[in-house]
Amino acid sequence: MECDILIRGGEVIDPSQGLRGLRDIAICGNQIIAVAEGLVDVEAGRVVNAGGMYVTPGLIDLHMHAYTHSPFGLDPDPLCAAGGVTTMLDAGTAGSYNFDAFRRDGIDRCKTHLLSLVNLSCFGLIAANLGELLDRRYADPDGVVETIRRNRDVAVGVKIRAGKHIIGEGEQGWANLRDAIRAARESETWLMVHIGECPMSIPELCESLEAGDCVTHCFKGGSTRVTDDDGAIHPAVRDAAERGVIFDVGHGFGSFQWEVVEAALEQGFEPTTISTDLHTRNLHGPVFDMPTTMSKFLMLGVPIDRVIEMSTTRPAKILGQDESIGTLRVGTVADIAVLEKHDGRFAFTDSYSRQRVGHELLTAAVTIRRGEILPGSGNSPSRHLAGAVPTPT
Ligand SMILES: [Zn+2]
Repeated sequence: MECDILIRGGEVIDPSQGLRGLRDIAICGNQIIAVAEGLVDVEAGRVVNAGGMYVTPGLIDLHMHAYTHSPFGLDPDPLCAAGGVTTMLDAGTAGSYNFDAFRRDGIDRCKTHLLSLVNLSCFGLIAANLGELLDRRYADPDGVVETIRRNRDVAVGVKIRAGKHIIGEGEQGWANLRDAIRAARESETWLMVHIGECPMSIPELCESLEAGDCVTHCFKGGSTRVTDDDGAIHPAVRDAAERGVIFDVGHGFGSFQWEVVEAALEQGFEPTTISTDLHTRNLHGPVFDMPTTMSKFLMLGVPIDRVIEMSTTRPAKILGQDESIGTLRVGTVADIAVLEKHDGRFAFTDSYSRQRVGHELLTAAVTIRRGEILPGSGNSPSRHLAGAVPTPT
């Protein structure tokens, strides 16, 4: 067999096929052409020695910010190479008025597979600090539907940040939420709701959502959380998860609290998907990248197979693209992450500046995007080494 790239000897984890074991992977052009144990008689242009590493589908980050006309936006391509993330979803940084600019200057220009939600606010997160829906005139459900209709290939859903300081209190907050739900239904897509000091309770919010809709920042602290005052998961949250509402991590700068995630996991409530909410203000900590966020769940006791599933196969399904991405099946696009697992003492920080020490850290040793090995792959674990930090609690 001839191929362009042979990934030799890695531990392949592909939840889409229920596959875990030592396999070689052959890539020709931009496609995976073979996944097998000990491939022989292979003439490969390049060999990636993945001995001792995990080989997984290219990671999919279901919540990040890439629209660089806003103060939050990051260039996706360096993040792809450094973090093993071959598909990203911009979580509504642009709205109906600036989506065309985002498409022209961002989505169509970057090499990384970038999809997007459309914000209910017509100008998205250009001035997010002012509250993009505090003035009801900025809510543009019809514009969202029209924007998605014109950009079906990249605009896959609707976004609202449902905080009181963003969408208003009481009836105003509800009116904005109803507009966002209507835009999702009329565009036949789904709604991602950012939770955070919401004008409605979390049970009320969950009851408003349908299967396929998504609650992001699901482990945030503060007054509106997935847990009640005693730390128990709200029954309405469990009900929503059971009927197919997605609970997404969206770690972010202010949306991931150890106490909440630990309480949830103890009660058997796992996130549907792991995502970063990566933007300019958390790139250098506490989020850093997808592999760091995934490592936090390893530390919290979630098995590696499920951590990979939450970061590949599940987001692919939510994006409606599980036939082509989030999988290592033969014939699919060669988006692949080779993840190195470092053993040691690593400091992990939540969004409230609190540290925990974990003993495993994943980094992206090699990223392959559509059959191309990217330069600059692989991160240093040094920023997490826990030797120099204060004794953790
Ligand atoms: Zn976000």
